Amino acid sequence: MITLEEKKLEEIEKMTKGCRRLLVLGCETCAAMSFAGGQRQVAELASAIRVGRKQSEDKGEVVEDSIARQCEPEFVDLIGDKVSECDAVLSLACGAGVQLLAERFPDKVVLPGCNTSFLGVTEELGVWSERCAGCGNCILDKTAGLCPIARCSKQLLNGPCGGSMNGKCEISKEVDCVWQMIIDRLTRLNRLEMLEEIFPVKDWTPAGHGGPRKMVREDLKS
Ligand code: SF4
Ligand code: SF4
Repeated sequence: MITLEEKKLEEIEKMTKGCRRLLVLGCETCAAMSFAGGQRQVAELASAIRVGRKQSEDKGEVVEDSIARQCEPEFVDLIGDKVSECDAVLSLACGAGVQLLAERFPDKVVLPGCNTSFLGVTEELGVWSERCAGCGNCILDKTAGLCPIARCSKQLLNGPCGGSMNGKCEISKEVDCVWQMIIDRLTRLNRLEMLEEIFPVKDWTPAGHGGPRKMVREDLKS
């Protein structure tokens, strides 16, 4: 999932100031899973903005809604009528969702209500951690299913760096050394010899270092 956090109310109030009719729009996939942009967060935020507006000069109306995914045109287009009645949309989706709204509704102001963080997993309720940096050429088959690009502080492909202590990364006691984890898991799987393979210098072009990326599946195109 893509993890995201709601922006602070003061920042949201500042960016939405003067919007006569504001649509607070949630996203029921990653944003809802992150407890940042699901129906409940939409209702709470819309209510907080209304309360703030009552106490200020900013008297515009605030309406709310939510769609299944803001990153898919077929869902975004479903909200077209409601968007046309508003002069701005506050999107509680990831950056991709915000941008697709802006593309589909070119005459509307579209504002980000969340900060997009990373591709990660839910560890427990309220705790998410990063797992993938979208490098475009997955090497998890060689690293025991653990990603050194997203999880090693130095993005080392030929680790460990030698600085870890008691399984923790040298940059912080809060961070597990992923290379220690890779070694532990390879040992457990009886595949420790894989550590002898030296990774060549990585081609970062598929990771986006060659410019904005696009993925095309000819077999799916109509
Ligand atoms: S190797 Fe690349 S694609 Fe695979 S998990 Fe790591 S960053 Fe993601
Ligand atoms: S201690 Fe481990 S996680 Fe931290 S930089 Fe070194 S190899 Fe990477």
